[in-house]
Amino acid sequence: MELHNFEQFNLQPEIIKTLEFLKYNKPTNIQQLVLPQALAGKDLWVRSQTGSGKTAAFGIPICERIDWLPNHPQALVLVPTRELALQVAEELGNIGKLKRLKALPIFGKVSMERQELELKQKTHMIVGTPGRVRDLITKGTLPVDAISHLIIDEADEMFHIGLKEQVEDIIKLIPKNRITMLFSATLNDDIRSLTKTYMIDPIEITIQEETIPIENITQLSYPVEEQDKLELLRKVTIYYKPSSCIIFANTQEKVEMITKYLTRMHYPCFCLHGAMRQKDRIHVMNEFRLGAFGYLIATDVAARGIDINDVSLVINFDISRGNENYVHRIGRCGRLGSSGLAITFFTTKEQSVMERIMDYTGITIPVNDPNNLIVTKTDMDTHEMNLNKPIILKEKKGKELNQTITKLHIYAGKKDKIRTNEIVATICGIDGVTAEDIGIIQILKDATQVEILNHKGNLVLDGIKEKTIKGKVRKVRKCTR
Ligand code: AMP
Repeated sequence: MELHNFEQFNLQPEIIKTLEFLKYNKPTNIQQLVLPQALAGKDLWVRSQTGSGKTAAFGIPICERIDWLPNHPQALVLVPTRELALQVAEELGNIGKLKRLKALPIFGKVSMERQELELKQKTHMIVGTPGRVRDLITKGTLPVDAISHLIIDEADEMFHIGLKEQVEDIIKLIPKNRITMLFSATLNDDIRSLTKTYMIDPIEITIQEETIPIENITQLSYPVEEQDKLELLRKVTIYYKPSSCIIFANTQEKVEMITKYLTRMHYPCFCLHGAMRQKDRIHVMNEFRLGAFGYLIATDVAARGIDINDVSLVINFDISRGNENYVHRIGRCGRLGSSGLAITFFTTKEQSVMERIMDYTGITIPVNDPNNLIVTKTDMDTHEMNLNKPIILKEKKGKELNQTITKLHIYAGKKDKIRTNEIVATICGIDGVTAEDIGIIQILKDATQVEILNHKGNLVLDGIKEKTIKGKVRKVRKCTR
């Protein structure tokens, strides 16, 4: 049975309302197939591509099934990269917002103490990379006794980068009485054995061909020798005039080199690769997603699972290592039904790699002659104009949802022995406000942050000034996001 809207899944009103805010009007293919099973509590093993609405396919059932009340996390999502952890946590946080569910991203190379402090607060969903998650569980600071949902996302990629052992260790540490969902773009023996060992009669779901994103993408290739690639890159971008473009190269050094070259040519560009500081990587990703600059030069760090929409051109400056990576890279454009263009450079030596990719995708990729790429004066003028265009930032996802929510900062925290129930009681004591209007509460050392829902931020801000918390009137202000 085809399900055309979310109402048909009998979801809680808060979830339906959130999906409306997020403008998820119709379930995507994967959501149509996964939701009924996941909502019924079945173990699932899903073969799907990224960009198909996969996160919401497990995020909606998790948010529907878990309760606000328990203090310990009820869902654990394992992902291969830190970027993905942030992105998935944001999506889960959005979906669960009106149910007041909190999603916390957990990953390595940043302060463990901070994450441990956050874990002391009520947290419903953890989205993390396996290494740090395992460390925190074994240290006892990430309680797993209430975990009833385990999601292993991008399982093939996690195993590919050597995280299989960590994933298995984690599975052994969490309660057996749970739902497990495994998502993977490809199948291999490791994944098969994992599903057999740790899942109960998993239902296999394969997302049909039509949802493979590359079908909306026009693919082209250019034969070029290494030393001529930069010049060709410039010509291609001037000729095709992308509104936004990702350029993939195989090494960090090359990514840096291309970035330097394009910067010299005044392109609005930044790079993304594994050797960059975590903070910088996140910043670059967010800015690119919002449209702050048009050209992202990246290694395969950016190829997988990263939710960047509206990329009009993907350029493989270096041909990808591995067929699957090719699909993941070019899948950055043409997401969710929009069209895109993918151009691959290949050297004489790489002809056979090109053929292997065509065999794998079953699509013939036309070979264009770089000499026929004639850049006219009009092309040049448009290019110059594009480089100097003022930046118009895109709307952040969930913006409308967040507009109904005000975050208040109360100048009293752990030091003042503030507790969640006191905050709730004080706020509910304001005329016209109920517990339903209170979102996530975070008690920090010196302060407490409370989300107020349903446009009642100002009402609470005014009302709370006349109330006492732990015997004192406290200073309160609005947080700026
Ligand atoms: P994902 O495959 O999870 O990376 O999702 C790809 C993109 O689709 C993300 O930007 C989601 O926010 C968006 N998305 C997910 N589900 C839907 C839906 N039902 N309708 C519209 N957009 C969606």
